[in-house]
Amino acid sequence: MSKVSPSFSLVSRGGYRGRLAPSPTGLLHIGHARTFWRAAQRALENHGTLILRNEDLDPQRSRAEFARAMIEDLRWLGIRWSEGPDCGGKYGAYSQSERRAHYREAWRRLREGGFLYPCLCSRKYLAQSASAPNDGDDEPVYPGTCRERKDVTEFMEPAGVNWRFRVPEGEEVEFADLNLGRQRYVAGSDFGDFLVWRRDDVPAYQLAVVVDDEAMRITEVVRGADLLKSTARQLLLMRALGYAAPDYFHCELVRDSAGTRLAKRQDALSIRHLRESGMTAEKVLEMAGWP
Ligand code: GLU
Repeated sequence: MSKVSPSFSLVSRGGYRGRLAPSPTGLLHIGHARTFWRAAQRALENHGTLILRNEDLDPQRSRAEFARAMIEDLRWLGIRWSEGPDCGGKYGAYSQSERRAHYREAWRRLREGGFLYPCLCSRKYLAQSASAPNDGDDEPVYPGTCRERKDVTEFMEPAGVNWRFRVPEGEEVEFADLNLGRQRYVAGSDFGDFLVWRRDDVPAYQLAVVVDDEAMRITEVVRGADLLKSTARQLLLMRALGYAAPDYFHCELVRDSAGTRLAKRQDALSIRHLRESGMTAEKVLEMAGWP
């Protein structure tokens, strides 16, 4: 088995640049408070720049009112950023819904490089063929049904079919997380050929994040540990696109008293709800595990 890690150069590209990348699909909760506070601290400690990016790619789930709320809630917590919405930066340049042309260009390059294939499997078929229950919101391992399709050239546009990244079967993807230590995933078994563009013409999270982290010259990604496996996928995408990988710092997840991971729909633990019930920002951060 070959290891992926040596070919990922962790390049220092000048000063530290970190990002907050919330999706406006619900109210931020104390789990977000923990991660975003940590991201802000890392940027401060490193005398760096912090960027706010609005991850509003999914038109079905993103709402302008949640985007407004996340900005207000972050400010209320005392988190400051110096690029992106609401700090003089051009909103559109930092909103994924406005950046589709960049993702499309990456899709084109990946397709031409032979990294992608169109997948015509129905949702029903995929649900039936999922071999193992997937953990949390993770993408199930794709059974590979469309992998050897010979008709890629018939699909000139990303819309209309699902596009998957062909992962190098059996390859180990290793990275040293700055918080959680060494991580190792095996492509093809820990995760399969993942989506980069959806049939309904929405670029997938994995592709958009990689393109944006490169374009915004992010040097360190701070995010929740639920995305560790996605980091492995993204390292493969970055290599295919010829990008240098940033450093990673994954934060432990906040769990409720029953040990369940917090989700946006648990409104009682939303920053907004806690604030309206009279709690101070200090208290919310304390609940989130700070200082
Ligand atoms: N927008 C993603 C989320 O809210 C986070 C993306 C990332 O940090 O890479 O879960």
